[in-house]
Amino acid sequence: MTTGKEGTREFSNAQESRDVAESARETGWEKRSFMRELFGGRLSLDLVHPHPAQDPEEAERAAPFLERIRRFTEEHVDGDAFDRKGWVPDAVLKGLADLGAFGIKVPREYGGLGLSQTSYNRALAIVSSRCASTAAFLSAHQSIGVPTPLVLFGTEQQKRKYLPRAAGGELSAFALTEAMVGSDPANMSTFAEPSEDGSHYILNGEKLWTTNGPRADLLVVMARTPPRPGVKGKRPISAFIVETAWRGVEVGPICRFMGLKGISNGVLRFRNVKVPRENLLWGEGLGLKLALITLNTGRLALPAFCTAAGKSVLAACRKWAVERVQWGAPIGKHDAVAQKLGRIAAETYAMEAVVELAAAMSGLGTLDMRLEAAMAKLWHSEKAWDLIDDALQIRGGRGYESADSLRQRGEAPIPVERAMRDARINLIFEGSSEIMRLFIAREAVDHHLSIAGAVIDPRVSTGKRAAAFLKAAAHYAVWYPGRWLGWGRWPRYGAFGSLAGHMRYVDRKSRKLARTLFHAIIRHGPGLERRQAVLGRLVDNGGDLLAMIACCVRAMKLVKENPADRTPFELADAACKLARRRIDGRFKAVFRNDDTTIYKVARGAMADRYEWLEAGVILTPPAGLDGPSPDAEGVSHETTRPQPKSAVPA
Ligand SMILES: Cc1cc2nc3c(=O)[nH]c(=O)nc-3n(C[C@H](O)[C@H](O)[C@H](O)COP(=O)(O)OP(=O)(O)OC[C@H]3O[C@@H](n4cnc5c(N)ncnc54)[C@H](O)[C@@H]3O)c2cc1C
Repeated sequence: MTTGKEGTREFSNAQESRDVAESARETGWEKRSFMRELFGGRLSLDLVHPHPAQDPEEAERAAPFLERIRRFTEEHVDGDAFDRKGWVPDAVLKGLADLGAFGIKVPREYGGLGLSQTSYNRALAIVSSRCASTAAFLSAHQSIGVPTPLVLFGTEQQKRKYLPRAAGGELSAFALTEAMVGSDPANMSTFAEPSEDGSHYILNGEKLWTTNGPRADLLVVMARTPPRPGVKGKRPISAFIVETAWRGVEVGPICRFMGLKGISNGVLRFRNVKVPRENLLWGEGLGLKLALITLNTGRLALPAFCTAAGKSVLAACRKWAVERVQWGAPIGKHDAVAQKLGRIAAETYAMEAVVELAAAMSGLGTLDMRLEAAMAKLWHSEKAWDLIDDALQIRGGRGYESADSLRQRGEAPIPVERAMRDARINLIFEGSSEIMRLFIAREAVDHHLSIAGAVIDPRVSTGKRAAAFLKAAAHYAVWYPGRWLGWGRWPRYGAFGSLAGHMRYVDRKSRKLARTLFHAIIRHGPGLERRQAVLGRLVDNGGDLLAMIACCVRAMKLVKENPADRTPFELADAACKLARRRIDGRFKAVFRNDDTTIYKVARGAMADRYEWLEAGVILTPPAGLDGPSPDAEGVSHETTRPQPKSAVPA
């Protein structure tokens, strides 16, 4: 492998990283995709309107389960206590498992509840509204842990063996990340060596930050396997189901974070672990693709957490805005606070609209949801962070104070401080915001790359490029004028009533989005992939257009169900107006921006040109005056927190 060096560690170079990501990409689009069509300049309203309905039989089965999980959460889940102790009690996890919450989407024939994404999201939202750490156990187990890849790619034998265990309460985890593998799996070093007789693999390596890992029974582990004929890739990655009770699976240091303090997360080590051949998932060399498809599928749950957080802070701020009187008026009447509160209400509505729409679309089974899921993950995680920030400001000093401290002073223990700590990770895990933007941008330009990629690729010979140019010219002679033509003005979308103007706006701007993407390709050529800020603005506009559509479609649904209540129209209108301002601003900045100046400053910073700016502060970390952390290996835990389940071999 050609490598770049940093210190003593070796990293794959950019081309290798790109090749690994590209080879694991889902390239086919067998089903229609609303977002893909939107990026292509087509508003395919038929895919989202009328709002897809939940299967009534499934909704009926889900209702008592959701009621039970609500009651259980109210009675047994104490987010402040779990946060304080850094531990979610076994009894809580067992109680949730007994309700079926470990196999919500697992088909009934394998011991699960066989419920939809919509019901799954609702269950997780209920739990996370009390405790994001407890909800993270359920999500890490089901969204990315053993059940999802097993349902998608397992053999019948694997499903029969493991799904009932996972659905019944054996906790699972997803182990992809390593010290050198964050956003870039090309650096993976965990290795599974096939035995000579082919009956098993010998697994060695170390995984980092595996949520649920230290308390898990089952793992999906991504590891390199040797290249061999018939297996794609020079350094193939494969996926395995590993049981933590097996000899050689060890739990290393437990990791502690800014938020989600109750989760179980740590280093996992594999020392000569014998993994039976039948525990290989899907096939050798398909592990990264499996991981990425799992994440693409699992990403629909995280937006439900974000929406739940929006609802919780809305409830807190709404009351506080009325109760708290300063300068002779309730603070909610001061414009600066009202602007924040109004935004929290409108955008919480928008978050729920996208979550419900995306889940309902996924429930149809006829649509490709990878872009919507990624977009929702990106949009919701950033939106929730902004809203919680606004909420903390509205709550003032009480926003910054912990719930325990508020309670101790006899005030309402509203945990905005914890919500903020818990929400920050959403922008990082399950694909960071930056990686989500790259992923979405790659798919957004895919249509153009498939037609004109060779024209702008300097590695392609002149003859081939000329042929590609003719082909592309013929295509764009029809496509491009089509992105200008089309009627996105009055009286179209009249059925949407007072929201019709927003629908017309989305119609027009989806065509502008496609045109601008095309202009960006022409302007920057192959260099466009490095212009992440340019691509980011276009991706973010796609996200806001999706949110606008979801707001309007949901308002129509809600008002149809209850014509006496027109408030969904008010919220949809406000959310759309906020989105339009952002969209217009970004379109203006796509080609007129300060990206190059800022990039140069970043390069200057990396070259230590501004080191003088750091004078006057202490930059060395403390020496650890009170000794090593209780989570360090070999140090006894003095806290009341129970020890993690030991998976060290006997
Ligand atoms: C609490 C917690 C729970 C987690 N749970 C799991 C789990 O269950 N299983 C698991 O496998 N992993 C888990 N992770 C790992 C998580 O998925 C990674 O942290 C994440 O993938 C980012 O990797 P990194 O932190 O190494 O950041 P890096 O990849 O080092 O990135 C650092 C920064 O650079 C940006 N960046 C990187 N590459 C690019 C690029 N090409 N272009 C633009 N920007 C870029 C990133 O977005 C980020 O902002 C968890 C992490 C945490 C903190």
